[in-house]
Amino acid sequence: MYGRLCNAFSALTMRDCFGMRGLTNYHLSCCVNTLLQTFFATWEIGDLLDKWEAASARADTVPLELKRVLTAMRRDHSQPVPHRDFIHSLDRNGVRLNTQHDADEVFLSILNFMQQQMDDKPLALEIQNLYKISVETYLRCSECPSVQTLTSYLLSLPLHVKEDHDSLEDCMTSFFEHQELKGINCCFCAECGKKTPSKQGVKLLSLPRILCVHLKRYRNGHGFTQKLDCRVTFPETFDFSETLNEALSTDFAQSSWEEVQTTYGGHHRGTAYMLMYRRGSKEELQQPELSG
Ligand SMILES: [Zn+2]
Repeated sequence: MYGRLCNAFSALTMRDCFGMRGLTNYHLSCCVNTLLQTFFATWEIGDLLDKWEAASARADTVPLELKRVLTAMRRDHSQPVPHRDFIHSLDRNGVRLNTQHDADEVFLSILNFMQQQMDDKPLALEIQNLYKISVETYLRCSECPSVQTLTSYLLSLPLHVKEDHDSLEDCMTSFFEHQELKGINCCFCAECGKKTPSKQGVKLLSLPRILCVHLKRYRNGHGFTQKLDCRVTFPETFDFSETLNEALSTDFAQSSWEEVQTTYGGHHRGTAYMLMYRRGSKEELQQPELSG
């Protein structure tokens, strides 16, 4: 199936519109509400939680309340969504009511609570795997062929926004660009037996079904944290393999994504904090599911 994919990211705005449910801004819950919309659009989560019996789980845990609210969102489109209990379960777990939260932090917290609080660990892991990005950090010595690597995974891709990076592609390219480490930043090379200049960077090993992109809009300096409001454009379709030609290993050169949901930190499309893309084919995108 994936063999026939075009190398494109694509948006599915029609599906999003048909899938959207109204959620009231209960105790400044707008950030949580938008995340709920992304979990709703990621139908795999609802399906996986449906399989969960929750036999020994406490009644008020985050995953159980998420299961309940997603079931309600799917069931009745005429009623306001009863997401109050879900928001209170987050509050009891430290994601406080009446507080403006960072969308990426809350997103990672919710995934964490599922790992901690679900008694069915394999199922919890399946949910986490939907977002799992495997990466390899490398350190390549400039004076010999040796390369040190470290494999790890991320649940969202943290991209720094800079004034001169005005598109998602620019931010991604910058994230995967290697850094030259020299002078006081030289690292010890076991082959050379001394500190040498090197190149440090990150490569993608595998891409998840749902790619979460976190646009980091803060910059620290001179004791202040500065928020960067600059506009970052994100296309509804773009060629992942072209942008990340060097970052992707060849197995993943054929990747296509559709946007499932966008979490806007501000009021404008250009100042989004978090983006979510779904892996899919262009053929699938041209036939949006309008039922349900
Ligand atoms: Zn060396």
